[in-house]
Parts: sequence; structure tokens; C-alpha cells
Amino acid sequence: MSKQTVVKNVICPFCGCLCDDIEIYVENGKIVETANACVLGTAKFMSANNVSHRITAPMIRENGKLKEVELDEAIEKAAQFLVNAEWPLLYGWASTECEAQSIGVALAEEVGGCIDQTASVCHGPSILGVQDIGLSGATLGEIMNRADLIIYWGCNPVHAHPRHMSRYSVYRRGFFTERGVKDRLMVVVDPRETHTAKLANLFIQPKPGTDFEVISAVRTVLAGNELAVDEVGGVSKEEIIELVNILKNSKMGIVFFGLGLTMSSGKHRNIDIALSLVRDLAAFTKFLICPMRGHWNVTGIGQVLTWITGYPFAVDFSRGYPRYGPGEFTSNEVLAKGEVDAALVIAADAVANFPLKAAKRLAEIPLIAIDPHQTPTTELADVLLPCSIAGIEAEGTGYRMDGVPIRVKKVIEAPEGCLSDKEILERLLIRVKELKAKKKA
Ligand code: SF4
Repeated sequence: MSKQTVVKNVICPFCGCLCDDIEIYVENGKIVETANACVLGTAKFMSANNVSHRITAPMIRENGKLKEVELDEAIEKAAQFLVNAEWPLLYGWASTECEAQSIGVALAEEVGGCIDQTASVCHGPSILGVQDIGLSGATLGEIMNRADLIIYWGCNPVHAHPRHMSRYSVYRRGFFTERGVKDRLMVVVDPRETHTAKLANLFIQPKPGTDFEVISAVRTVLAGNELAVDEVGGVSKEEIIELVNILKNSKMGIVFFGLGLTMSSGKHRNIDIALSLVRDLAAFTKFLICPMRGHWNVTGIGQVLTWITGYPFAVDFSRGYPRYGPGEFTSNEVLAKGEVDAALVIAADAVANFPLKAAKRLAEIPLIAIDPHQTPTTELADVLLPCSIAGIEAEGTGYRMDGVPIRVKKVIEAPEGCLSDKEILERLLIRVKELKAKKKA
């Protein structure tokens, strides 16, 4: 009879919460059960066993059809695509470890390409806002121990970060919030009455796309001015005054914000004004703000790109040195305008998430996909490099949504022949250098 083992204190490599208390039960080298993970985390761990969607052999497209090949042949083809391209795009990076991401930046520099990450279609405006205004931040541990006012603005953690409220904010008992939820107020601001909104002490429902106006009104009242109108963005004057009183009277407050703020009308201007509101509140009390980052290591690629190039996304190496250009070197734009002529997509599913024009371009140009599972992107790929699942079958470093680096574990072995993202990228980088040297000679 086979023996079941349990691996404790595993980090969940799914969302930006990076929960570090997961228990994984392993039998015959397979994950058979999880404890403490939410439904999303459990599905991620169990995806390692998903034989029907798992890619285990390298493939290249010939006469329109993908055929299995040896890894060396697939690496060779991928390296040729990158070396022969005028301006390749290297996109994704959010669901892999920092060690792989750093090799990716070296590869982008070597091929004179454009490197961009998933933030360019989610929290890119947050990054721009922070560059404009600065961020008053804290670790989730500090929030858990001290915050007595939790605001969720334009996000729905019940569905997107299911353990956020129980581990880090509303329900968790902390050092100065011993009674957990009884020591806290929860406010939700969202145009939709989400499942998170149903749990709030105060739910404010502005009209879609009016966040900038509503925050402006809150700042106006906070500064001691009268509102000259009865409502702003569908929010009554009374609600705005009530919210301002709650903000001012908290001992320590935190705004967690999501794509409802970053991707609605105003984009990075919404973040500018939210950060400015938090800065204003410093005159009254301790107040903080934190983006609800989605993919488990999307914060990490921003860190890695910034250490190496000075810029967190939308970085171009075509002139031999890094240039920063949100809106110019962001993946959606360089694809939709037909500017890039080859692409490598790793640790993200570009085709499923990009607008049609950008996705169509990916179908037109040589496309290399590095992924453990079948996705719409792998369906279009010309070279398919199967990899291990970072954080389950390969260890490495990830950054939690609050910017705390955490070491993710290897829990089980990857299917035979599936290297880690880092190992694949290292081999690709070596071959690219060899081909470039050959070209020069
Ligand atoms: Fe994983 Fe996020 Fe769920 Fe935590 S909340 S178990 S990190 S998916």
C-alpha cells in the first residue's frame, strides 16, 4: 500500500495573497488533497494532476499542425525565431518565480526586444499612479494587527482573493484588533453589489466610471469644504459626509483597490487621486493603501524589471539600453499596431486576455509559448515548451501583493522532461547567444 505524506507550510502560487499555511497531501508522487487552501488555490494545486490539459512534450508547428519533437529541436526553433526577428515581444511573467524572470530580462536584452508583463493590462495604472504620487504602504501583517477600518474599492476579494479577508484584514484577530471583525469597520465601494459588498458595514455604490469624481468629493469634504451639489457620481452628499467621518475617526485605515479603479474611466488618474486621498488623510490619522494584485508573482516581475532596467513594465531594448514607454511599449499596443514580429509568451495567457486585434497579431507572427497547460495561447503557438509549475514543481521567490518576498516550495516532481521556466530560459539564452555569434562571424 502506498504511503501518504503531508507537506506543511506550503505557499499557494495562485493569487497575490501567497497564503503560506497550505498543507499538501501527496501519494505516489501526486497531490491527492489540500488543506487550508481556498477553492482557487486547491484548483491550482490539483492542476498538476490534470493529464488531459497538461503539456508534457515539446512541440513545433509544421504544415499548420503541432508535432512532438525533442527539447533541443524546440529550443533551436525558438532561438531562431527570436534571433531572426526585428523586434520580438517577451510577454507574461506573472506566474513564475523571480529567478526565471531575471533570465527573461537578460534574454530580452540579448535579442533587443520589448519586455512587458501582465500588469500592462491590469495594475499598470497603479504603477503609474505610484510613480506620480508615491504610496503609503504597509505589510499585510501590520494591517492584520492594527487596521480598524478596511476599505475595498473596486475589487471583490470574496471571489478573486478568497482568503484575503480571513487572513489579512476583516476577520483576522490581530495584536491591536483582538476581537477580529468586532474591532473593525468594513466599507466597500463598487458599482456592483458584489458578494464582498453584501458583507460590508457600509456599501457605497457609485455609477460606473465615476470613481475620480467621488474621490474628489471625499477630498473636498475632508479638506473642510461644503459640497455644492446633492450627489456626485450617484453617491449622495450624506453618504460622502458619512464616509469622511468614518475615515477621519479610524485609528488606522487601509484602502485595498482593484481593477474596478485601475481599469475604469480615468485609469491612472483614479490611482493618483486615491493615493492623494490617503496622503490627505495623514493629517487626521494613520492611513494606508494597497493594490489587490492578481497573479501570485505579478508584483515580483515589477520588482525584477525595476532592479535590472530601472522600469517596472513596458521596457524596450531595441537600442541596446532599456527605454520605458507605457502606451508605446506595452504589449497590447505593440501587437495591435503590428510592430512586433515574433513573440514569446510565458506564465500568462495572452490570447485569452488581450483584445482581438492584439490576439490576431499573435496568430500572424512566430509565437513561442512556455506553459505547463493547454491554453488559447498554446493553441496558437509555433513552438511549445512545456514546463514545470512554479511553486508546485519548482521552487523560487515570489512577491506578495504588499511587496514581501516569500520563497515558494517545490512539493512534487514535474512530469518527466518538463524543466522549470528558469532552466528553459537559460537554455534558450545560451542558444540565442550562440546563434548571434554565428551570425556575426
Ligand atoms: Fe491561494 Fe489566493 Fe486562495 Fe490564498 S487566497 S489559497 S493565495 S488562491
